[in-house]
Amino acid sequence: MINFRKLFRFGRPAPVKATQAPDGDPKIVLSDHALAQMMFYLSVVKSEFGFAMEGRRLGHTVYVDGIFVPHQVGSSAYWEQTYPDGLDDVYLHFKNTPGVAQVGWGHSHCSFGAFHSSVDINTTKANGEMLKIPSVSLTISRNTRMFDGLMCVEDGGQTKIVDAQVVLPFNPETDKISDGSDIEAHEF
Ligand SMILES: [Zn+2]
Repeated sequence: MINFRKLFRFGRPAPVKATQAPDGDPKIVLSDHALAQMMFYLSVVKSEFGFAMEGRRLGHTVYVDGIFVPHQVGSSAYWEQTYPDGLDDVYLHFKNTPGVAQVGWGHSHCSFGAFHSSVDINTTKANGEMLKIPSVSLTISRNTRMFDGLMCVEDGGQTKIVDAQVVLPFNPETDKISDGSDIEAHEF
């Protein structure tokens, strides 16, 4: 998990190199844009909210370019896409933006920390069976600005959930991370 308050106060840590071994340690790498979108929604939405994540995959590294917030209902401890509006939102968003893939789902936690509850883990697994693997899940705490990441990977024909490190950030326009290196390859 990453403490964003510390990052903003003391500057960013050096990000990991973007080019990982194809099956390296699970990582979720956030773009500046995705991070700004999440912070914006955290500041204006008082309930939990959920979001689809747009991005790219390179082995077990998933780059999150941005987020998409569909129509939904929420409370301080719950959120859910509406049916059919929210479902249609996501379907149409990704259908109408060719080359942008959905790499996972994320949601905020209001009055507790960033972790995946047993419900969250089950949802992550169910989503993993619908999305292309690897797919990822993020929780972000409204209180602490901490993230928790999980990744669905394939293991012997089974979908398995593993912890994923959350890493900051890269510039989606240049595909360069802060140390100047390139994101060399990716697949949607
Ligand atoms: Zn949750």
